[in-house]
Amino acid sequence: MLDQHQRIIVTGGAGFVGSHLTDKLLARGDEVICVDNYYTGSKRNILHHIGNPMYEMMRHDVTFPLYIEADNIFHLACPAAPIHYQHDPVQTLKTSVHGSINMLGLAKRLGIRILQASTSEVYGDPNVHPQEESYWGNVNPIGIRSCYDEGKRAAETLFFDYHRQHGLEIKVARIFNTFGPRMHVNDGRVVSNFIIQALRGEPITIFGEGLQTRSFCYVDDLVNGLIALMDSPADVTGPINLGNPHELTIRELAESIIDLTGSASKLTFKDLPQDDPMQRRPNIDKARELLNWQPTVAFEDGVRKTIDYFDTLLSGNQHPTKPNGQV
Ligand code: NAD
Ligand code: UDP
Repeated sequence: MLDQHQRIIVTGGAGFVGSHLTDKLLARGDEVICVDNYYTGSKRNILHHIGNPMYEMMRHDVTFPLYIEADNIFHLACPAAPIHYQHDPVQTLKTSVHGSINMLGLAKRLGIRILQASTSEVYGDPNVHPQEESYWGNVNPIGIRSCYDEGKRAAETLFFDYHRQHGLEIKVARIFNTFGPRMHVNDGRVVSNFIIQALRGEPITIFGEGLQTRSFCYVDDLVNGLIALMDSPADVTGPINLGNPHELTIRELAESIIDLTGSASKLTFKDLPQDDPMQRRPNIDKARELLNWQPTVAFEDGVRKTIDYFDTLLSGNQHPTKPNGQV
């Protein structure tokens, strides 16, 4: 029998989502090349694959060209948490724009399929709710979130222009807030922040009044959606929303995490960051119809698994990664 396995490049493969995606691809028998500069990712996330002949790590910054061979590309490289992507905004924009051009160029040379990890941030602070893919968004082009939002919007443009101009097979996923084990301990994203604060018995930092909403997807569900999109027929280009429509205010999220951790932490209120979106919930009809995909992990179950992860990490059985992502 012919060996059907594919060699798959995962850019950003040492990060939170990329490492879970790698686990799943290897488990189904594919070969994975992780391309990552460890800006926010960590070797710790993928240590369990070292020594596996089907796995290869390349320290490489996607803003530089790459010449290797593969069957398809999951392009995830980009810092995703506001404090990380705002740390060096010019590099963030370069990563989305130059990085996408380089990976699209690689896909074009090889004649292979490429998937872009885009984001619900392309909708900005949306005045349409829930968000469908046909909505063009409400994004500030010059604010502190713009390096990420506009970078991802430009990347989507590049993907569709390579598709129209060069006939490249593209897949664009608009990912909504995702959480789970291996989120960076210092990245300031709300689920990890609240869990860590609750486990340490520290005040839970609510930005603004906590009435803004987000819809949280467990990472295993997201990864299944990304794979379903990559494996979908060629005419399914997206953009396609991947997320869990289970919507919560940030205050409800805090209360739920206090409850699930049994913590004595109290709420404390801080200024709302500039351009912080007020509401966000995906319409996932397209994903249901075209990919036969929808999330299956209940929010509380996902949060419990994430609490277990951070509990182990904080109790000293593992050392948290350093801020630069090095082990
Ligand atoms: P992450 O920060 O954990 O992972 C990003 C990875 O990309 C890291 O390993 C980092 O080192 C790597 N990277 C960054 N810049 C690079 C560069 N120039 N060259 C090579 N590698 C580089 O973030 P994540 O949550 O795993 O997000 C993965 C992707 O999914 C990102 O593209 C992000 O925009 C997208 N996304 C994530 C979410 C979410 O909620 N997690 C939501 C929307 C979109
Ligand atoms: N947030 C908060 N406290 C925190 C971290 C975040 O209230 O300690 C809020 C933040 O202002 C935003 C929401 O939680 O309204 C989600 O923030 P996150 O950075 O996780 O994701 P994003 O804003 O990119 O969706």
